[in-house]
Amino acid sequence: MDLFADVDVLKGVGNKTAETLRKYGIRTVRDFLYNLPRDYENYTAPTSISGIRPGKVVVKGKIDSLSTRRAKRRNLSVTEGVIRDDTGAIKVVWFNQGYRIKQFDSSKEYYFKGNYEFKNGRFSLISPSAAEVSDVDPTVGLNPVYVAHGSLKPQNFRRLISLSRDAFNEIPDLLPSVKPGTRKNALFYIHFPNSIKSAQNARDYLAYEELFELILAAKLNRRENEKLKAIPIAFDRTKIQKFVRSLPFTLTGAQKKATWEIFQDMEKPVPMNRLLQGDVGSGKTMVAALAAYEAALSGNQVALLAPTAILASQHYDGLVKILEPLGVKLALLTGATKNKTELKRQIAEGKIDLVIGTHALLTDDTVFKRLALVVIDEQHRFGVEQRQKLTLKSPKGLAPHLLTMTATPIPRSLQLTIFGDLDVSILNEMPRGRQPITTKIITEVETKEKLYPQIEGVLRVHQQVYWVCKAIDDDPRTETTSVKSRAAKLQRVFPKAKIEYLHGRMKPAEKDEIMTRFNAGKIDILVSTTVIEVGVDVPNATLMVIENAESYGLAQLHQLRGRVGRGQVASYCFLLTAGDTAPSRRLRELEKSSDGFHLAEVDLKLRGPGEIYGALQHGALDLRIASLSDTKLIARAQKDVTTFLQNPENMLKYKELMDGITKYQQITTLN
Ligand code: ADP
Ligand code: MG
Repeated sequence: MDLFADVDVLKGVGNKTAETLRKYGIRTVRDFLYNLPRDYENYTAPTSISGIRPGKVVVKGKIDSLSTRRAKRRNLSVTEGVIRDDTGAIKVVWFNQGYRIKQFDSSKEYYFKGNYEFKNGRFSLISPSAAEVSDVDPTVGLNPVYVAHGSLKPQNFRRLISLSRDAFNEIPDLLPSVKPGTRKNALFYIHFPNSIKSAQNARDYLAYEELFELILAAKLNRRENEKLKAIPIAFDRTKIQKFVRSLPFTLTGAQKKATWEIFQDMEKPVPMNRLLQGDVGSGKTMVAALAAYEAALSGNQVALLAPTAILASQHYDGLVKILEPLGVKLALLTGATKNKTELKRQIAEGKIDLVIGTHALLTDDTVFKRLALVVIDEQHRFGVEQRQKLTLKSPKGLAPHLLTMTATPIPRSLQLTIFGDLDVSILNEMPRGRQPITTKIITEVETKEKLYPQIEGVLRVHQQVYWVCKAIDDDPRTETTSVKSRAAKLQRVFPKAKIEYLHGRMKPAEKDEIMTRFNAGKIDILVSTTVIEVGVDVPNATLMVIENAESYGLAQLHQLRGRVGRGQVASYCFLLTAGDTAPSRRLRELEKSSDGFHLAEVDLKLRGPGEIYGALQHGALDLRIASLSDTKLIARAQKDVTTFLQNPENMLKYKELMDGITKYQQITTLN
């Protein structure tokens, strides 16, 4: 049997079933075998009803006296019945599962698994799962549970897969150095486990295989990157030293180290591909400035891409101050830039050394003469294609050096897998004198007592406040306060304060104007949506309130919080919640820790990599089995891939493997 043959060649799969399967993406025999159960119902060791005790139980018996009624509470249907075995009878109850009425045949035996508990004045078995005894492998007692697809129920899948047992023999081994038949057996035991343990082992093997593929893809990307040519940029010690001495502060040790790593990469004739990770406020921009200066010194061009216009112009303002006196020509290119044509002409002629911009930089008509370095700030805000658009703007046959920057640390496990052990520089040291941010969760009813006096105090010493809201406009359907009405409310509480609001639907010029005034200290309280999230730097802002804090992800909250604590005085972040439930783990972690690396690990555990990197990778990373937080398995796969790659013949020999990883190669790139 050909694994890539249509599903309908399988026993038991007729035209109609095949059609349904295809509708859910199961087209080939292989797809069908790889449609894995999501769980197992465990019907081992049923207890006899006479010996039943409260708690989780499995009983085996017949069921009768089924009936459904409406409960007093609206919208609740209650289906009841009686389960009997040779030793006795118990009551069984399901809620809102009306279909149970039709599920059972009173002459047949079933397993029931659920909680036996005291409810509404008597003991009953509550909402058990159920399976016909003849449908469960009697020696094992485990039932794989498949996701229902249309009219195909889990039990249909069980029947079809049983009929297709022969097909497993067609599954070839994918990886070298495994016992022959490893893969086939793994797949088989997932569908037909001997025990929970055997299913788990089988799953572990397939997870390992998946990680192997992912890591192999990532490593091959890296190899391909190393085959590209880039403009080597010589290190100009004298000029760089002079520049560093001219700065109003001394670089942190971490900044020096990162800069040095970047300079060494850029000296090579292969493109740098380096990620600069550093918590908000750790001074990534300065490192980028040094790299840009170095590139410009040797007559090359640099592009710095930022995700928002506010951030781009802030970078521009900051960099103009320090780089223009040194003779670097800078330009800002955003949607709002006037006279774009003229500016683009100058860029094309090589008259601009450093272009800072937003998506406007990516358009086809933005052409460079000699683009040698691309810096991408907040890299997770951009998709692979967007980043590629920019890296393709180097002279023909050359790729630019690439420096990506992020304040959302990528956990080590992801670096190794998705990003192929890419080069990482870490700013794990804050500039001197930074004060920690005190974070507190408070509920809305506490605002008057706990929050307003704090704000009062901050305003008194002429420091500034960010107040982050979820919505731009009021919406009568939700209780979320909009920036507009929050600003108005605060104005009543603090009549003397200068209060303004900011949101993403305003015109870029308008936003810039407000940010500029906030920056200059002319606004006391800025009520804003998350447009201020990224990179904005106002050291005099020392208090932030995040309203509806529960509605944001951990990484985003941490980023937002990083807008304060940028100066020399202690800062505060208040996480405002409705207070009708206990604060989530996310908020509690945020209250406890200001370490972005720790928070990223927590976030990965709480949400999984798909959620975190979903936006970045366009959801392409749908690992079927493996978990990207399984560090042990990752380490093993990592080691084995290295061995695999040491023998170039392997790549010809393991064709299926090599073909299969192209899909991963697409997503495991930071170029
Ligand atoms: P981020 O890493 O979040 O992008 P920035 O680059 O915006 O951080 O830097 C935050 C602030 O710290 C800026 O005002 C910058 O000028 C300042 N800064 C950077 N490096 C140092 C340093 N070594 N000492 C003191 N301040 C610094
Ligand atoms: Mg930044």
